[in-house]
Amino acid sequence: MGPLLNALVKLQSVENNLRAAKAKLARCRRNVILKENQLRTLQNTLEAKKEEIQLTKIQVDRLELEVKTTDETLARYRAALNTAKNNKEYATILTELNTTRADSSKVEAQTLELMKNVEIDQTQCGQIEAEIEKEKIELSEIRKQTEEIAKKFETEIAAVEQQWQAAAKDVQAGALETFKRVADTYDGEAIAEIEVHDSKSGVYTCGGCFMSLTAETANTLLSRDEIIRCPNCTRILYFKDTEI
Ligand SMILES: [Zn+2]
Repeated sequence: MGPLLNALVKLQSVENNLRAAKAKLARCRRNVILKENQLRTLQNTLEAKKEEIQLTKIQVDRLELEVKTTDETLARYRAALNTAKNNKEYATILTELNTTRADSSKVEAQTLELMKNVEIDQTQCGQIEAEIEKEKIELSEIRKQTEEIAKKFETEIAAVEQQWQAAAKDVQAGALETFKRVADTYDGEAIAEIEVHDSKSGVYTCGGCFMSLTAETANTLLSRDEIIRCPNCTRILYFKDTEI
């Protein structure tokens, strides 16, 4: 391997360390995000439940008013019974009275059912509120712990970043740009080793995407210290020194 590919292989190794350190930081912060989401879900549930209670209460008020109005109607029917002129009229009013009373008791039962639901929902609200308080305490604890660990990881990242800058100095500007672009495409993996299956018959594959490479590609790389990229995945190809 010539100096350019040598420098790129070194840079790749530092790039791997840098990505690993950044991933550690992201992982440790993910716990906080998860907890925040949990808390938000609880708060949304609580709000939805409170809104539901509000709506049910409005419905209860409406039904109670209906029952009150019906009570007045029933009173009128009772009075009418006393002043009925004949049996037929009496029977008609009595039927009306009974029907109205039956309807009204249905509404009353419905009202009671709704009030029971409100009570259940209110109990649940209390439970959710208690859970929210618990989650808040846990979240602040996790935040504190995470920040301490994160500081450690940030220091580690800064150190690796310095190593990266030092390794990048040995790579020409154009090659460095290519390296960075491919690294961003493949989650840090910018270079791929050429895998030699049979050097005599010229069977080579890209270690990144496992597609076959022509013997010409392999031979060019053996004779020149330059960037040659896999025609399929575009990774920068290299031979491990031991395999040449
Ligand atoms: Zn490839």
